[in-house]
Amino acid sequence: MPTFTHRVFNFNAGPAMLPTEVMEEAKSEFLNYKGTGMSVMEMSHRGNVFQNILDESLSDLRELLELPSRYAVVYFPGGATLQFSAIPFNYLKVGESADFALTGVWAKKAYEEAKKFYPNVKSIFNGADSKYMELPTITDEIVNEGAKYVYITSNNTIYGTRYKTFPKLKKAPLFADMTSELLSRKLPIEDFSVIFAGAQKNIGPSGLTLVIYDKEKLPTLDHPIPNLMNFALMEKNGSLYNTPPTYSIYIAGLVFKYLKRKGGLEAMEATNERKAKKLYETIDASNLFYAPVPEEFRSAMNVVFRSHNEALDSKFLALAEEQGFAGLKGYRDMGGFRASIYNAMPVEGVDALISLIKEFERTHG
Ligand SMILES: *Cc1c(COP(=O)(O)O)cnc(C)c1O
Repeated sequence: MPTFTHRVFNFNAGPAMLPTEVMEEAKSEFLNYKGTGMSVMEMSHRGNVFQNILDESLSDLRELLELPSRYAVVYFPGGATLQFSAIPFNYLKVGESADFALTGVWAKKAYEEAKKFYPNVKSIFNGADSKYMELPTITDEIVNEGAKYVYITSNNTIYGTRYKTFPKLKKAPLFADMTSELLSRKLPIEDFSVIFAGAQKNIGPSGLTLVIYDKEKLPTLDHPIPNLMNFALMEKNGSLYNTPPTYSIYIAGLVFKYLKRKGGLEAMEATNERKAKKLYETIDASNLFYAPVPEEFRSAMNVVFRSHNEALDSKFLALAEEQGFAGLKGYRDMGGFRASIYNAMPVEGVDALISLIKEFERTHG
């Protein structure tokens, strides 16, 4: 492994890079947060100082997403995966069902977890038929009678697919795992009843999850829910039912402030689309590399590509790593490459990757 004296271009899918500006800020107040004489990591979650950090982070997030007041925002521990269990517990009574669009590993895991407790949940799309390179068009016609919600993964981190526009449904509310894209583009928030995102892709450190839900659509249930999965209980306690991941919340708060300084989601979206467009254009124009995802489904966050000659893959990866491009290896079962270019990846990082691809093609093409 090469070693570096500077930060590399970090294309990891998650945990992923955070804005250098945010990391510098956290570093500057690491030992002594605003004259308290202690780190945020070392202070009580019940004290005023932390309460302010938490409150400000939530109000900044609300502002960024332009959240109507009927939506609650709650920090949960347990990663995005905990929500695979928590959501069915909160929204389904015994024997009830929901519809799942199986567009990748994460959607499948959510479906299988729900099915363990609610055997009537159904799949309305199986992406395995297209090796997860395609997404469904979800309309009321394909929603099953009695489905309490329709569950989608808005951006499929592993395969590099995303819904360019979201389903508009009348028959059932829409729930989305937005782990790998929340805050990367503007959202028609009112089309969703539940949105959740593990923090480690585009928001902050791993282990922290944001859950946004429409309070008016939360049902009253006929069975108990484990406390740390209980939306109403966690919300009533202001994300402080138990000791939350305090330092991670602090970092997420710094990221929200950074996004506001940068012009909010509209500005992020414009930059992100520009970054993705030029990377896909380079790959499309290449004789050595290609992008397997059809254009209409291409993610702006996770750009998946491959070479036509597998023998060259390890050569490209070795060269990339040596030159300070980290995390380009594709997901373990997928092979090839994946460049995760979340909000924090600067345009210069994408430009440098484009130069690397062109240079490799010139010398190996
Ligand atoms: C990374 C990821 C997850 C898993 O997150 P954990 O925090 O590890 O549970 C779930 N869904 C999507 C879309 C992801 O990208």
